[in-house]
Amino acid sequence: MREYAIATIPADGIGPEVIAAGTQVLESLQKRLSDVKFHFKNFDWGSDYYKKHGVMMPADGLATLKKFDAIYFGAVGAPDVPDHVTLWGLRLPICQGFDQYANVRPTKILPGITSPLRNVGPGDLDWVIVRENSEGEYSGHGGRAHRGMPEEVGTEVAIFTRIGVTRIMRYAFRLAQSRPRRLLTVVTKSNAQRYGMVMWDEIAAEVAVEFPDVTWDKMLVDAMTVRMTLKPQSLDTIVATNLHADILSDLAGALAGSLGVAPTANIDPERRFPSMFEPIHGSAFDITGKGIANPVATFWTAAQMLDHLGEAEAAARLMRAVERVTGAGILTPDVGGKATTKEVTAAVIDAIHSSNI
Ligand code: NAD
Ligand code: MN
Repeated sequence: MREYAIATIPADGIGPEVIAAGTQVLESLQKRLSDVKFHFKNFDWGSDYYKKHGVMMPADGLATLKKFDAIYFGAVGAPDVPDHVTLWGLRLPICQGFDQYANVRPTKILPGITSPLRNVGPGDLDWVIVRENSEGEYSGHGGRAHRGMPEEVGTEVAIFTRIGVTRIMRYAFRLAQSRPRRLLTVVTKSNAQRYGMVMWDEIAAEVAVEFPDVTWDKMLVDAMTVRMTLKPQSLDTIVATNLHADILSDLAGALAGSLGVAPTANIDPERRFPSMFEPIHGSAFDITGKGIANPVATFWTAAQMLDHLGEAEAAARLMRAVERVTGAGILTPDVGGKATTKEVTAAVIDAIHSSNI
C-alpha cells in the first residue's frame, strides 16, 4: 500500500465546494485502485479564520504543512477582506516558504467543451504554461513613501536572479523536451524592461544549448496575447515571469472554455517541501453557494498531484474519467451546460468505477 498525507485548505468562496468534490473523487479513486491510500487532513485557514484571529493562518502554519506529501488548495479572497491581505496571508507564503518555484499550468480543450475561438477544437490548443513562481514582480519587495501625502510614491520591485531565472528556464526546457512537439516559447518584455527581461533572454539562450533537441523561440508578452488568440496551434510549452504568466494563463483558461477548467501546480522540483495543487480560479463570489462551480479544474489539478506523487496511472485514469464526462456533455453552466457541481462529481466517480476506463 502506498500512502500519502494530503493537507486540504479549501479556504474561501467556491474553494470549499470544489475541494469537497475533489476529495470525493480522490477517495473513489482510492477505492478503485486498492493499493493507494490518501490520508486527508483539513485546515480551516482563510478569510473566516482571518476575521476571528487577525491572520489567514497560524504562525506555525508552514511547520504544520511541511509534514505532508502535498497540499490541495481551494481559493482565497472574500468581499470584505482586502485581496492583498488574503493573497499575501496564505497562498504566497506557502508558495514562497516552500520554494515552489515552478508553477505549471496545462491548458487544452477538453472533449465536449467549446473554445470561444472560431474553428479551434480539441487538439488545436494543447499548451503548458510554466510560470516563474518565486521572484519577479511578486517578490514582495517595494513599499510606499510619504503615505497619504501628495508626493506619495509606491514601488513594486521586480527581482530577477541568475539562479532563479536559470532554474525555471531549465525546468521549462526539460518539460518541453518531455512533450511530443519539443517546442518552447520564452515570453519576456525585453524591449521595454531592459534589465530583468534582457537577463531572461540571455539565460534562455544559454540554457537552450543544454537542450539541442528543443526548438525554442522568443515572444514579447503583448504580442504573445495575439499569437495565443490567432495561432494557438503554433504554441506548446511556454515559460514566462510571475506576472506575465499569471495574466497569460487566465487568457489560456478562457480560450480553453472557462477558468473553471484551468488547473495549476505549485511545484518544488527539488522535493524538499510539499508542493501545492489548486485550480487557477479565485473564490468566485458571484457563484458561491449556488452549487454550480465547475469542479473540473480541481479534478485536473488532483491529477497533477497524483503525477507529482509518482501515481501516473491513477492520474491518467482520473483524466480519462473527466474527459469522458465532459465529452458526454455533463457540464456546469460556465461551459454551457446545466449540471451542478454535485452532478459532475457523481458522473466522474461513476466513470472512475466503470470497467473500461
Ligand atoms: P475568479 O476566478 O474568482 O472569478 C472570475 C470569473 O470566473 C467569475 O465570473 C467566476 O464566476 C468565474 N469562475 C471562476 N471559477 C469558476 C468555476 N470553478 N466555475 C465556474 N465559474 C468560475 O476571479 P475574480 O472574480 O477576479 O476574483 C474573486 C476573488 O478571488 C478575489 O478576492 C481575488 O483576489 C481572488 N482570487 C484568488 C485566487 C487564488 O486563490 N489563487 C486567484 C484569483 C483570484
Ligand atoms: Mn491569477
